[in-house]
Amino acid sequence: MRTTLVVDAVALKDALAAEARALGFDVVGVTRPDALGDAKPYFERFIAQGQHGDMDWLAATAARRTDPQVLWPEARSVIMLGMNYGPDRDPLDILKERALGAISVYAQGDDYHELIKSRLKAIARWLVASGGGDVKVFVDTAAVMEKPLAASAGLGWQGKHTNLVSRRHGSWLFLGAIFTTLELPADLPEIDHCGSCHACLDICPTRAFPAPYRLDARRCISYLTIEHKGPIPREFRPLMGNRIYGCDDCLAVCPWNKYAAVGREAKLAAREALRAPTLAELSRLDDAAFRALFAKTAVKRAGRDRFVRNVLIAIGNSGDAALAVEAERLLDDPSPLVRGAAVWALARLEPQRFALLAEKLVPDADQSVRDEWAAA
Ligand code: SF4
Repeated sequence: MRTTLVVDAVALKDALAAEARALGFDVVGVTRPDALGDAKPYFERFIAQGQHGDMDWLAATAARRTDPQVLWPEARSVIMLGMNYGPDRDPLDILKERALGAISVYAQGDDYHELIKSRLKAIARWLVASGGGDVKVFVDTAAVMEKPLAASAGLGWQGKHTNLVSRRHGSWLFLGAIFTTLELPADLPEIDHCGSCHACLDICPTRAFPAPYRLDARRCISYLTIEHKGPIPREFRPLMGNRIYGCDDCLAVCPWNKYAAVGREAKLAAREALRAPTLAELSRLDDAAFRALFAKTAVKRAGRDRFVRNVLIAIGNSGDAALAVEAERLLDDPSPLVRGAAVWALARLEPQRFALLAEKLVPDADQSVRDEWAAA
């Protein structure tokens, strides 16, 4: 790491970009803390309409999320960095394999939060050593609107699916932010290159886009499988197919992805065990086995019960009667969330067996599970 103090802002920015590239980032840009454009009214409408669902922290942090100057008044520049995680195969192929579970591309390897954060911290240390000032580092879970800031810093534009799209890296960029008290030269924002394309809107299985550039998270499979804590609303279950953690559909169809596969392997390789796991084996995970299988991955944060709930929805959608035995076994699971999903899966896969059990079994102690029996 270089330690010579670089005083010229342009030279400092160039050196910063070189440092970021050496640490694996594919794209770097700089914007101002007040450059969020119309992201604030968009976000306020999203919250006011309840489209954030259970994600209460989004509403709770709205003031600082929508204004980086509230988050950190001393910040003068925001450095946005992107890392390409384009997959080495088509993530939509597994959707045809109904006895397998589809885990979103970003979650098939080591937890990117950790990977990105450690590298952002290294760059931030380099910046302080080279140019002085104070810094703060943010990645994903922080109260920062990374996508509009990244667009403002010229990394790409927010596509009709609301995610960042880059002409060089498609829809596959992890984003991170470094706030600094230094005045660095700002980049020009990227302009929208979606044109007349609406592939991402058309492919969405749950119709989660009320309009281009607007997402209702409550309908999005990524939200439903990762963030939503209770039973998944019944209307969405058949539409989930075998997506058990996240959904890549709107990202994967973006035509700008054609350049994104280059250079991903060394940085964010998928674990073989998470590329195409069978629903049968996933349904048998107890808490210890779940933690072992998903150690150091993003999936681990969902917890075993929520994850097995998702697996049972996929089992119900599999059309594979051989998987009914897994659903039946989970009717006795300690978690009401899992038992309720098992009821739905079994009723969908084996209606006759389900009817027989409905007559024989003692009513479940939990009201939410009794509701599933009544509705099935
Ligand atoms: Fe729709 Fe999937 Fe995109 Fe969510 S991630 S908006 S469910 S296509």
